[in-house]
Amino acid sequence: MDDYESLLDRARSQIPEDAFKRSGERFQVPEVQLMVQGNRTIWQNFQEIITVLNRPGKEVMKYVSGQLATAGNFEGSTAVFQGKFGPEVVEEVLNRYINAYVICPVCTRPDTSMMKEKNQYYLNCSACGARTAIRPV
Ligand SMILES: [Zn+2]
Repeated sequence: MDDYESLLDRARSQIPEDAFKRSGERFQVPEVQLMVQGNRTIWQNFQEIITVLNRPGKEVMKYVSGQLATAGNFEGSTAVFQGKFGPEVVEEVLNRYINAYVICPVCTRPDTSMMKEKNQYYLNCSACGARTAIRPV
C-alpha cells in the first residue's frame, strides 16, 4: 500500500517541471512596513523593497507619491509621505507599479530592466528576451 510520502511523490511527478521552477524562483517582495508619525507616513523598508525590485528609488517614489496624490521624500533609507496611509493602500500602489514596470508581460517573470531609447521606455526581460514598450512613470 502507498504511504503518504509516495503519494506525494507521484503527485509531484505529474506536475510539469516548469511549474516548480517558477514557484521556486518567485519573486518575494517583503511586506511594506509603515509607521505613521503625526501627519506623515514613513515607509521604513523602502530601500529593501526597491533593491528587490531592482529599480531606482526615485522612480518608485515618483510613482507612489503620484498615486497617493501627495508629496514624498527620502530620509535616509526610508521614504516619507505627507499624510496618513495604511499598508493596504501602499501595497496596492506598489503592486500596480510591479505589474506595470517590473513584471514581463510576455513571460510574467520579474527579471527585467528598464531602458530609455529615443524618448520611449522599454522593459527588457532577461528571462525570455522580450522587449516591451512602456509608458514613463
Ligand atoms: Zn519575459
